[in-house]
Amino acid sequence: MSEEIERIKCLIIGSGPAGYTAAIYAARANMAPVLYQGMQPGGQLTTTNEVENFPGYADGVTGPEMMIQLEAQAKRFDTDVRDGWVTKVDFSGGVHKVWINETKEIHADTIVISTGASAKYLGLESEQKYLELGGGVSACAVCDGFFYKGQETVIVGAGDSACEEAHYLSNICAKVTMLVRKDEFRASKIMAERVKNTANIEILFNTETEEVLGENDLVTGVRVKNNQTGDVNEIACTGFFVAIGHNPNTEIFKDYLNLDAAGYIEYEEPGTAKTNVPGVFVSGDAADKTYRQAITAAGTGCMAALEAERYLAAKGH
Ligand code: NDP
Repeated sequence: MSEEIERIKCLIIGSGPAGYTAAIYAARANMAPVLYQGMQPGGQLTTTNEVENFPGYADGVTGPEMMIQLEAQAKRFDTDVRDGWVTKVDFSGGVHKVWINETKEIHADTIVISTGASAKYLGLESEQKYLELGGGVSACAVCDGFFYKGQETVIVGAGDSACEEAHYLSNICAKVTMLVRKDEFRASKIMAERVKNTANIEILFNTETEEVLGENDLVTGVRVKNNQTGDVNEIACTGFFVAIGHNPNTEIFKDYLNLDAAGYIEYEEPGTAKTNVPGVFVSGDAADKTYRQAITAAGTGCMAALEAERYLAAKGH
């Protein structure tokens, strides 16, 4: 038998910097927010080592530690932080209905979606091993590039993200080798040209990653194969960056919210946190394919909570 329906003022879905920031603002505005942590409590930052670019941490902070701090800050103002993930929604009526773990039903006056996005990886065992060890595999050049200052890195991907990240790395690293699996870029011409015209970026077309190589906990190189000639080579590097796209975690909202072709939630009004459903707001990477930073996620989390508060005020709550 299913549990009784719970009625709440503000439901926050997701526990990255966007969700916790929304919670801090909503809690301090007396909205008694309930936050469901989702599948990966703490979000993408829990797979990062050192975060050096979040303002306020002069000495840096590890991703997991920062998420512990954010959770504690949200709880300090009595955010109800819960385990569990949203398995179904129904935004068709005036009441926003949400089901947790397929059983519990919640009716929320306002909802802040902060479900984030998940970086795609190649799926190689060695890639996952060094990713988990924090020893040289990353899906975010802006986050981790600095740790490879003056060193040689390899980046895989051929879209706009890969080009942007390769160029970012080229300003920090001694050399960047870019692995493109086809004989052409997918990226826009201007982004591809910029990469081609950068002296310390070497582009290897028709090239796929066979294995990430390492010693003990650290990456030492990659073994690659040319899919036209069959030639196999090893490239020495200390950092291996994967930039083959992200999947926004928005599947459960697709019947009700406007999504773009890649699945990101579209803002109803640019410069706000509004979706096409009144009372449902979005923040963080679920709607952001451009910046994807903890600080931008936190900023939009704040916007979403402020707008939820205004929405409730306008309804006389
Ligand atoms: P995309 O989906 O555009 O590109 C992914 C790239 O990764 C493709 O080149 C693809 O290769 C490659 N790839 C996928 N799987 C593998 C694999 N297993 N092995 C090797 N290569 C692989 O993702 P992006 O993140 O680059 O961009 C997403 C969206 O965001 C795009 O619309 C983009 O334009 C936009 N964007 C815009 C920016 C800007 O304007 N400043 C910056 C960043 C993103 P293949 O081509 O062979 O399929």
